[in-house]
Amino acid sequence: MTENKKYEGDCMCGQVQYRFSAFKKMVLKSCHCVECRIHTGHIMSNLAVPDENFTWLKNDTLQYYQSSKHLSRGFCSHCGSLMVVRQKDIDFMIVMAGGIADTEGIPFGFHYFSKEKGNYYDIPEGERQFARFWYEE
Ligand SMILES: [Zn+2]
Ligand SMILES: [Zn+2]
Repeated sequence: MTENKKYEGDCMCGQVQYRFSAFKKMVLKSCHCVECRIHTGHIMSNLAVPDENFTWLKNDTLQYYQSSKHLSRGFCSHCGSLMVVRQKDIDFMIVMAGGIADTEGIPFGFHYFSKEKGNYYDIPEGERQFARFWYEE
């Protein structure tokens, strides 16, 4: 049942749109690394969607900025909305949480790169956090 649920999202001007279908273990997470904070203006909350579940509906204005050797950040070149992050050699579309129209059924999981978090806020007590990547600990 949940497997067939569809999620959609778009950018602020509507020229970039995507859809993805539900998959097992959907979990939102927030990256606190310096690069994500600079790029997004705060933390980068996202959902890693397997490529096979993800489709672009419209992406004529989508552009990528390569922010490091392994990472490209996709944004709408018209309105500037940050849409996705692509990491080299992994088969996931890392979708920005903010653009997903309705996140019903996708719980928040954890924070990562907490060692690079900003001084101006605290990660809520009791929420799971990792100093760097969750899969390294
Ligand atoms: Zn746009
Ligand atoms: Zn980050």
